[in-house]
Amino acid sequence: MKQLYINGAWLDGASSSANINPSNTNDIIDHYAVADAQQTELAIAAAAAAAPGWALSNIQMRADALDKIGSEILARREELGILLSREEGKTKPEGIGEVVRAGNIFKFFAAECLRLRGDKIPSVRPNLDVEVTREPVGVVGIIAPWNFPIAIPSWKIAPALAYGNCVVMKPAELVPGSTWALTEIISRAGLPPGVFNLVMGHGAVVGAALLNDRRVNAISFTGSVATGKKVAMAAMGRLAKVQIEMGGKNPLVILDDADLATAVYCAVQGSYFSTGQRCTASSRLIVGKNIYPRFVEAVKQELAKLAVGDALAAGTDIGPVVDANQLEQDMNYIRIGKDEGATLAYGGERLDGPSPGFYLRPALLTDASNDMRISREEIFGPVASVIPADSYEHALFLANDTEFGLSSGIVTTSLKHATHFKRHAQAGMVMVNVPTAGVDYHVPFGGSKASSYGSREQGTYAAEFFTTVKTAYCGV
Ligand code: NAD
Repeated sequence: MKQLYINGAWLDGASSSANINPSNTNDIIDHYAVADAQQTELAIAAAAAAAPGWALSNIQMRADALDKIGSEILARREELGILLSREEGKTKPEGIGEVVRAGNIFKFFAAECLRLRGDKIPSVRPNLDVEVTREPVGVVGIIAPWNFPIAIPSWKIAPALAYGNCVVMKPAELVPGSTWALTEIISRAGLPPGVFNLVMGHGAVVGAALLNDRRVNAISFTGSVATGKKVAMAAMGRLAKVQIEMGGKNPLVILDDADLATAVYCAVQGSYFSTGQRCTASSRLIVGKNIYPRFVEAVKQELAKLAVGDALAAGTDIGPVVDANQLEQDMNYIRIGKDEGATLAYGGERLDGPSPGFYLRPALLTDASNDMRISREEIFGPVASVIPADSYEHALFLANDTEFGLSSGIVTTSLKHATHFKRHAQAGMVMVNVPTAGVDYHVPFGGSKASSYGSREQGTYAAEFFTTVKTAYCGV
């Protein structure tokens, strides 16, 4: 049984849950403690008690702790990558890649501890100095989704600690294992008790307790739009700082002048790898009408080469869907697409694997339009629709015609169109001749419109959320 981590001690939960491998539902990874509201409150109290001391802690000590955490994550990339793939279902290379990203994030923020800077500004009044400094926010509640079980917790925890905040971390119910392993590493990094706490459990219990407790000064959330809205309302209701990353319906525009091989690579990689379970996955392929038949044919040929199977098996390209509910959602949207008049040009059927798992052949729906539900609602699986476009202007219009705005891509050999697209795509991230998914760890991450709310995550921009600005006047 893997326990909760509260105030520097390992504690049993109020109950426990089994962490099940989506590649093989007979494989139970372990049992993980599930906290109740009182235990969450204990963790919040511990973080609140530790906050004043940690806020003033030595920055070299913080840097050393984060660096140590990053080094151990990187040294154990294989083992942690396997655990991640086993609980979430992305392939082993993808799991290891995510672990490396997490390690690099801790290393990045270890160095950021030493780079906090402020401003000294001349006053407009005589005999006065003005200083602007960044200070910790206090206690940060972190609520994470299941699809990046170590990278997303890391990109929230590392800046929170670096900038002097205490953390109460709640991973997603489906994937407690990677965050638990991360916590075990953090527990040996020399942080004072209460600075970092792990409470596994249900959103409606642990999440709600974090949202409603006045001692939690800021909430950093990643997940669905439906939950994100609730989180925003609750946090704003008590004037807590809030940062919310939500879903996407990311377009990939393929212009008639695109290099076909690049277009197919971007579409297949961006739409289907990590089983399409990435918030930045391309789910709308908006394709010029001249290249359309060649593009669809080439994508189908490429999809036929992909091996769908056990996430840990050598040679698997696409692992299973994360659980039975998500599989049902994916298959339901494929049915909806067909009912709406789209053509299921490839895949979409449930597959029997070597073991009982949630295997789905990647689905390509062609002849779609942008007003179908499959083009408007986030599916979050290995399902993409192809929407024809008459011109660049039409393609840009379709790309922007969505409530979301996370990542927006274009494949073109035209500098003019690439430049225009970078400027006019309504998204937080724009990709030219690369897949919509796949980002660097040291630059800002986030979206516009309904995809994000609040300030950006990652890179130096993370300071905006995890610090608060103080302006001090001093008579001289
Ligand atoms: P979800 O919204 O169901 O759950 C996210 C987290 O919120 C979980 O930890 C859950 O327990 C918690 N939660 C649920 N109800 C809650 C409540 N009432 N109060 C407080 N917390 C609550 O999302 P999910 O299914 O885990 O993740 C998939 C979603 O995440 C997709 O929409 C995807 O696009 C999005 N996502 C976005 C990004 C991004 O950075 N934009 C990255 C990854 C995933």
